Amino acid sequence: MDSNIAISVSRVSKTFRIPHEKVTSIRGAFTTAFNGERTYEEFKALDDVSFEVKKGEFFGIIGRNGSGKSTLLKVLAGIYEADKGKVKIDGMISPFLELGIGFNPELSGRDNVYLNATVLGMTQKQIDEKFDAIVAFSELERFIDQKLKNYSSGMQVRLAFSVSIHANREILLMDEVLAVGDSNFQSKCLTEFSRYKELGKTVILVSHDIATVQRYCDRAVLLRNGKIVTIGDAEGVGNAYIYENMSDEENRLRGEQRAEKDLEIKIEKDDILKQAEEIEERNRGSREIELKRIRIFDIDGNSEKNVLVSGAGVVFRVEYSVEKGVDLDGIVIGLGIHLRENNQYCFALNSFVDAITLSSEMIARGYVDIEIPKLILNNGEYVINSIVSRNKINLVNPIHFLGGIKRFSVRNTNYNEGLFLIDHNWR
Ligand code: ADP
Ligand code: MG
Repeated sequence: MDSNIAISVSRVSKTFRIPHEKVTSIRGAFTTAFNGERTYEEFKALDDVSFEVKKGEFFGIIGRNGSGKSTLLKVLAGIYEADKGKVKIDGMISPFLELGIGFNPELSGRDNVYLNATVLGMTQKQIDEKFDAIVAFSELERFIDQKLKNYSSGMQVRLAFSVSIHANREILLMDEVLAVGDSNFQSKCLTEFSRYKELGKTVILVSHDIATVQRYCDRAVLLRNGKIVTIGDAEGVGNAYIYENMSDEENRLRGEQRAEKDLEIKIEKDDILKQAEEIEERNRGSREIELKRIRIFDIDGNSEKNVLVSGAGVVFRVEYSVEKGVDLDGIVIGLGIHLRENNQYCFALNSFVDAITLSSEMIARGYVDIEIPKLILNNGEYVINSIVSRNKINLVNPIHFLGGIKRFSVRNTNYNEGLFLIDHNWR
């Protein structure tokens, strides 16, 4: 192996055998014993995985639950044996894997530090020297003589993590360490990883926090169903994952919107006054022009979307039906965007304040398009209320007001936080 390479994984597969049915009775046990009919289902947790990690690299592993990330780390750590392929490791590994490995809940925090550090190859003297630093990093000074089983899971993780980074080995394997602990602890972990990297050591980080992987890792791999989807610079791989989740979310939102329609029909059939009033409140007006739905398209009008990318151009299409013989002059159309979680009013637009005359031909067409060249909403779940009225926006006597006509989500592929993406330049 090239001396610059810390980890080399070549065509690794790992299959689990899951018994088809558990033996639940004595008779069942006998049957099994006699004719050996017990069958297994084979499950490929890792499927022909190959990659290399260089020494001094900060490498991320991302993918959905069940995609094989933890299995891969356990194969690297030698906890699982791959049933096919080769793993070569140059350097001693300090694994931070699932909770509980190498820890004893009946012992005190102090004894567990000694136990775990010994497992990681530290001598008694080394542990004595580093003990205070380990405990200080974990911020568990006050609890160190209590039994581990009385620690919260977050406290256990802090202790385990602290031991693993003080073991001073060449390769750190970190499985979801950032998922627990407060933001202060997380930033301490990240500082520590960066320090490791500066020392020329190798860090493998499994994390759900894509922004962190993109910001800190040099490269990353995306796993799906035990296979590598893509591998390369962390930024691009992280974005691939965001897009993968967006398409899932797209499907979920479609399902949800269908379910909501069904629900509404059901409620309308129920003759309960309060529910009727609620519907009346968010679905009201004389309705000679009746709002039907809003659809959102990308800027070229090609594909319909419910999950939008922050900063991208979109088109909102407001669709409605028009009764025969209705006067189509002076119609105004508007929509308001709210945050779903707290109904925070984010933005409204309407043809009246925009001083746009919607011609009767346009209204007769049954839809209007509103082009938004750059959507400045950031990450979040949003809902749209829409209105049609005459001459001005009239919320009291609308032709039709329909609250919650459309739901959509926005996802970031940038690092900015908060509600809005605001263009800016540094000078
Ligand atoms: P991730 O860490 O990406 O969430 P895992 O590596 O933990 O995924 O699991 C990958 C798949 O392998 C899952 O479907 C999981 O149920 C299965 N799996 C993991 N460990 C075992 C095991 N010891 N026995 C049987 N199946 C397992
Ligand atoms: Mg896992």
